[in-house]
Amino acid sequence: LFITLEGPDGAGKTSVLEILARRLENSGTDFLKTREPGGIRISEKIREIILDNDHTEMEARTEALLYAAARRQHLIEKIIPALEAGKVVLCDRFIDSSIAYQGAARGIGTEEVRSINRFAIGDTMPDLTILLDVPAEEGIRRISEGRGHEVNRLDAEGLGFHRKVRSEYLRIAEREPERVVLVDATKNLEDTAEVAWAAIKSRMK
Ligand code: C5P
Ligand code: MG
Repeated sequence: LFITLEGPDGAGKTSVLEILARRLENSGTDFLKTREPGGIRISEKIREIILDNDHTEMEARTEALLYAAARRQHLIEKIIPALEAGKVVLCDRFIDSSIAYQGAARGIGTEEVRSINRFAIGDTMPDLTILLDVPAEEGIRRISEGRGHEVNRLDAEGLGFHRKVRSEYLRIAEREPERVVLVDATKNLEDTAEVAWAAIKSRMK
């Protein structure tokens, strides 16, 4: 079972993932918790290249291709072997991040980004995607309270960018209701995680 967690900045992905990992642990499930670039040497190097610029130097499609390349290596080295070993894989961000951030918000076009990502991942799509949904303003407000150091980067993109990210995520959820479970993440962390956990449990049966 391949599960991904998605959502705009400040939705609480990392915190919810921690809680879900604990639930899986307690239920005795054999699982892998990972996040892109997954500690994979090649993917980490690619990620360094992406982060080593301020979005004025790196062109949008170059960025999208690099994310897709890092994703493939993480998939091949870590995710697929875990799935083949029968593990539940819980991954923080995957293809939908690229569609929302690079495709919609950065303006490349969602179908273009979907198509290079299909090339990158083949037919290994997530079985379940938990989409943590918060309005862009709320997400940014949370980050400015908790992780002040990230605020400059988020401000640089502007609220419009983050609104596009969020609305593309909602479009993906509408388009693929079988795969994507939309979770209201404006509630407190425990309640949000509870809804996500219910979705996972129903797929594990
Ligand atoms: O997962 P996390 O929220 O830590 O992601 C860090 C940042 O990387 C996000 O704020 C997002 O702006 C950026 N990102 C991106 N495109 C992706 C994945 C992440 O721009 N495909
Ligand atoms: Mg995070």
